[in-house]
Parts: sequence; structure tokens; C-alpha cells
Amino acid sequence: MNLDARYQTELVELLEPATLLIVWTDGHESLYSHRDLRESCECASCVDEWTRQPLLDPDSIPESLRCVAVEATGRYGLNLKFSDGHATGIWSLERLRKSCPCPECLESSA
Ligand SMILES: [Zn+2]
Ligand SMILES: [Zn+2]
Repeated sequence: MNLDARYQTELVELLEPATLLIVWTDGHESLYSHRDLRESCECASCVDEWTRQPLLDPDSIPESLRCVAVEATGRYGLNLKFSDGHATGIWSLERLRKSCPCPECLESSA
């Protein structure tokens, strides 16, 4: 499999206030809010595996939510642990890159 530089990370860092920084191998930088990441979790307890219906009520996420740890899982994903105890979600690097919220990416995906 050919590894695409867009979907590989150079640096992953938790920043304040409640931000996750990813620097990609192609030099692009993405900043995600911890809350947006938590809300986009697709694990079996947040999204129904069969119907893809969201099971997570965004209102149940505490205001003070923080991502407290981030770990690489294999070469293609990140496991994020949150202050609300949620730690089962895996975000694929491809999905993260495609959902980069910077103006440049929003424009090119529009
Ligand atoms: Zn989840
Ligand atoms: Zn971007």
C-alpha cells in the first residue's frame, strides 16, 4: 500500500484551549477542537453500528470536556481519550485530514 503524505502525521499535540494540533507529512497543519472531535466519534457506543444513527447526545457532553490523551493506533489512526471517560473512539488519519476545519480545506471540499 502506498502511503499518502497527506494522511501521515509529522506531529500530534494537545494544545490549550482544548485544541488538537496535527502537522501532516506534507506540511499542512490542522487544528481541531476537542469537542468537535468528541462529537464526531464513530465508535459503537456513539453511532449505531447497523443503522449509523448517532447515539450520542451532544448536550450530554460537559462544557469542560478535554481530550486528555492521544495515541497512535497502527499507522492509520488515532485513539483519543477524553475527560468524560470516553476512550474507545478511533479516528482514522484519512478522516481527520478530510475534516480539517481550516479555511483552505473547507474551501477545497466545498
Ligand atoms: Zn465514541
Ligand atoms: Zn486544512
